[in-house]
Amino acid sequence: MAKEKWYQAGLCFSCTQCGNCCSGDPGYVWVTKKDIARIAEFLGHEEGKLDERKVRRVGLRYSLTEKPNGDCIFLVRTGRREPDGPRTSCAIHPVRPLQCRTWPFWTQNLRTADDWNRAHQKCPGMNTGCHYDFVQIESLRKKRKS
Ligand code: SF4
Repeated sequence: MAKEKWYQAGLCFSCTQCGNCCSGDPGYVWVTKKDIARIAEFLGHEEGKLDERKVRRVGLRYSLTEKPNGDCIFLVRTGRREPDGPRTSCAIHPVRPLQCRTWPFWTQNLRTADDWNRAHQKCPGMNTGCHYDFVQIESLRKKRKS
């Protein structure tokens, strides 16, 4: 019989819009050609393309670009300070890439409870808010295997 996963009883997550996952150290937000076309359409770019200010080629793949301060190119800072910190939003939220849609239920965060709690140190939305059951978590995790 398969060993039970440590998160069999489910996990909680609700984004607080702190923006930590969309800023900071340089990284990659991978996008497929379909993502690029969807984002371009959402932004009203009739030709279905994003220019090099928004997407860059990394080897054979594409990643969204970052602003000089490390923010994702689509991260919007409201400038308003809530009691528990600043708020952000995503300019392409309805069409955001799979990587963003499946956070924090990534395999690398779910290997052990320690991995999950390490990610939680940067993501205050983890361990709070909406409860995701095991089936929901596995469905999200399997969408993005890394
Ligand atoms: S770090 Fe977590 S809480 Fe903050 S914006 Fe990202 S997903 Fe939301």
